[in-house]
Parts: sequence; C-alpha cells; structure tokens
Amino acid sequence: MRRPVNSRVQGKYLHNPGSLKIDLMLRGIRIDGSVSEGEDIEGLGIDLILPRNIIANVPCKEEFTKDSPYVLKKKGKGYVITDGIDEVDVRVVPKPEFYRKKTSTGVPFSKIGIVHGSYTVITPSPRCEFFHSNIECRYCAGNFDVNSTDRVYSVDEVLETVEAVMKEGSSRIIYLSIGFTKGDDGGIEFLTGYIREIKKHFNCLVAVEALPPKHNRWIDETYAVGADSVLYNLEIFDSELFEMICPGRASLIGRDRYLEALRYAAGIFPSGTVASHLIVGLEPPGSTCMGIDFLTDIGVVPILPIYRPSPSRALRIEPLTAEIIIPVYRHLYNAVRKKNINMNWVRDISVVTTPIESGYLVEDKGGFKGIMESFYKSKIGLKTAWGLSTIRRKLRVRDVEEK
Ligand code: SF4
Repeated sequence: MRRPVNSRVQGKYLHNPGSLKIDLMLRGIRIDGSVSEGEDIEGLGIDLILPRNIIANVPCKEEFTKDSPYVLKKKGKGYVITDGIDEVDVRVVPKPEFYRKKTSTGVPFSKIGIVHGSYTVITPSPRCEFFHSNIECRYCAGNFDVNSTDRVYSVDEVLETVEAVMKEGSSRIIYLSIGFTKGDDGGIEFLTGYIREIKKHFNCLVAVEALPPKHNRWIDETYAVGADSVLYNLEIFDSELFEMICPGRASLIGRDRYLEALRYAAGIFPSGTVASHLIVGLEPPGSTCMGIDFLTDIGVVPILPIYRPSPSRALRIEPLTAEIIIPVYRHLYNAVRKKNINMNWVRDISVVTTPIESGYLVEDKGGFKGIMESFYKSKIGLKTAWGLSTIRRKLRVRDVEEK
C-alpha cells in the first residue's frame, strides 16, 4: 500500500526557491492530467524554472515521486506548482530544438549532447573501464552505458553538436565527460583533440569531468590545452563508505590521490573552476559537511547532487528530508563564501543546487538576492570569465614554458 502523501512539509518550502529546489529534487513531483505528455515531459525528469530564475531538473517518473506533495498543473497558458495549500508560478523548459536533429553521420544530437541548464554534457566515449570488473561505482549514472557498443563520437561529430548547441543558445559551457581509463593521463590525451577544436571554433567555456590522472603534469596539460574548468568527483568524503560504494575509484585511484589532484588543480585553475561532487544521501550529512570544509580549504568548489534512488540501487541513507539536508547546503554557501571562492562558474545547473543558489537558504545579508538578480540580468559574469580565462591561461602557459 502506498504511503499517504506527507502533509507536514506543505507550505514550508514553496516560497523559497532554494529550499523548493532541494525538496523537489528530493521528493520529485506528480504531474497533473492538465499537463500534456510528450512536448513537455520526456525522460525521467522535467526541467522547471522556479521563481528567481532557478532551474531545476525534477524527478517525475520514478516510483518515489508518487508520494510527493508537489503537483505540476497547467494554469491558463502557464504552469504552477502546488503543495496542496498554495501555489507558485513556474515555467517548463522546452526540450532544445537541436535534440530533433542529427549529425551529418546520422547520429541524433540528443545522443551526444545533453543540456543541464547553463551547460551541455558531451561524453565522446561512453565506456568506463570499471565496467565488467564488478568495481563500478554502485550508484553509477550519467551518460555512460554499461551495455554500450564501442561507438566513440568523432571530433567532427562533437563539433557539429557544439555548433547546434551554440546556434540555439542552449548553453555556453561544454562539459566533456570521460569515465575511467587505465592510462596515467586520466583520459586527457583522448580529450585533447576535442578540447582544442571546440576552443578553436567556438566562443564557449570547456569543463572537463574526469577521474584524476596519476601524475600532476596531466593536470597542467589539461589547463594548457584549453580546459577552463576541471571536475574530479570524489562523490563520498567518508573513507570507508568511499571504499564500499566506489570500489574502482578506491582501489585503482585512491581517495588520497583524489584530494591531492584536487589541491594541485586548484593551484592552477582560476578560483571557482575546480569542483568536486559530494553526493547527498550516500553518507551522513555531517560527513558531507566535513567534505565541504576540506574541499573549500583547498580552494575547490563542492557540488552537492542529491542521490536519486532506483529500485535496484537503494543506497540512500534514510531518513533523508529537506529538513535534514538544507543545513548542509547552508553550510556549503557559508564555507564557499568564507573562503572567497568565486561562485559564478558553477551556477544555473538543473541537476544540482549550486553554492550560489544555496544563498537563498541563508539570511539575506548584504543584498544577496539583489546581487543574484543583477548578475543574471547582465550576463556580465560569464563574459568577464571568458576574458579572464584567456588572459590567465596565456600567462600560466608562458610561465610553465619559461621554467
Ligand atoms: S567512474 Fe563510476 S560513475 Fe563514472 S562511469 Fe565509471 S562506474 Fe560509472
């Protein structure tokens, strides 16, 4: 028998976009019959723009969403979210037009690039060498396909995809993502051609999401070839849980190497561009907070996705409620701010609550909301970031060459 919808949270989070995003991502949303399938909803999650332009990818099809107090309804020409007591206006993000098109080789662009708010993830090779060795991460998600063929997308196919993304203005940050490879370089040699060509042809930022290379010189190389940002996702800070849930990462890379590589990268890349995920719900909140403190101490931005359980992967620690995890996001905002780490690079991401969005959870000191709104309106932040990133790289590369 299905549990009754919990009414305790009703009205509590609806009017704060920061806490609403967290609660929606945790509990999902039910879709009212007034909302048509197809155009608006494809896949497991729906992208919504909440008040104050916060974008959220909200689970809507998994089993756990059936207990959610939130319902998405059509109202006039728009949409509202109701919690049974009150409602707020939201917008549904339409699927990008380019998802319907294909590369000149016949591959649908939607297979190569996936938009998550301000960034698009491209995974040129869907393989991860942890697969088939029984050491893959126990929650494994993302764009990696355990049953994939050996299809690797060529540089040209990726360039065509980036062109489609840019033409539509879907996002201005391209995340190149790669799974585990056995070499020393963490996959950077393979990605170099993609990074160089994207930077050569398009005015966009490129982030690399990879596992740490064995040697730091590959981190220098990642920066030198044009990456603007790098993510080595530790995922779990607690050492024992890390070993249990990420056996491949623990045995073939090691937690210490993660932390060392992140520290080194933060010394090379500009403030706010080195990041690491800590998945909320796979370890106790106190442990996530310790991870936040450690990462911010070394100049790394913690990014906190919420674990989405599926029937075959019920790894989530329970109970996990917004009441329990909102303080973790508050801690995130305060820690990043205290260490003066730039929050503007990691923002507008539909699948996680970013540090800058977590600011809505703390008291509005120093006109935080006003700063956010003017930043979104002007878009000066990203333009400045592009200019600075180019100048900084030139100086850094020259520095290394001169040594
Ligand atoms: S590194 Fe882990 S999460 Fe990433 S693709 Fe490999 S098994 Fe999956």
